[in-house]
Amino acid sequence: MRRALVSDIHGNRDALDAVMRDIAAQSVAEILCLGDVIGYGPEPRECLEQASSYTVCLLGNHEDAALRYSEDFNEKARVAIEWTRQQLNSRDHPREQNHRYWGFIGRLQPQARCDGVLLVHGSPRDPVREYILPRDARNQEKMGEIFSLIDGPVCFVGHSHVPGVYTEDGRYLSPRLLPDGYLLGSGKVLVNVGSVGQPRDGDSRASYVIWDDERVLFRRVEYDFRTTMRKIIETGALPRYLADRLETGR
Ligand code: ZN
Repeated sequence: MRRALVSDIHGNRDALDAVMRDIAAQSVAEILCLGDVIGYGPEPRECLEQASSYTVCLLGNHEDAALRYSEDFNEKARVAIEWTRQQLNSRDHPREQNHRYWGFIGRLQPQARCDGVLLVHGSPRDPVREYILPRDARNQEKMGEIFSLIDGPVCFVGHSHVPGVYTEDGRYLSPRLLPDGYLLGSGKVLVNVGSVGQPRDGDSRASYVIWDDERVLFRRVEYDFRTTMRKIIETGALPRYLADRLETGR
């Protein structure tokens, strides 16, 4: 079965719309979302509306922070979460709609399985909060423990906003090295699908993945990030830095 995996939309409806148009041309049967639909971006409601139609949507650390506590967030992320909470409680919208969005967030699960394959936001040993970054690829202690928790050919994650493939023998493969995708089946791998709404690998284009059982294909989609930057600034509340970083993809 052919599926699309998205993650870290972060309230960026412009990026998500562009990704959804790209997905529509890929004849996928299902869309799976690995969390962080909200936080940072200017249109959390629109993104939740879209995500609620996906086959799977996981709990990200930003949803967890919106629901429970955000004390472990840095200043900018916390300001964004508080602003996002206000948007989801806004009296400018029907109360039932607010309830529906909070209900949806409240039901999100920290992990899921799809055809036996583990899906998490962060990592198999800490599904919501642990980061796996390219520099961790050679950290045998960390990656050894993480790979011991992966029981299929692949585990999909998001959270770091840096897409790529981590192999059990300590390599990180950037999608730039994989124009034809990564063929599954020769050893376990962990795949980070990247971020739709706030890429951090130096490429401003939205990132997502097509998974067709045997192959993982990394997709990048251009979108009008200047419009999103303007929307962030026009909130008058979200930190300017959250707009600037969309341009640099950092
Ligand atoms: Zn995120």
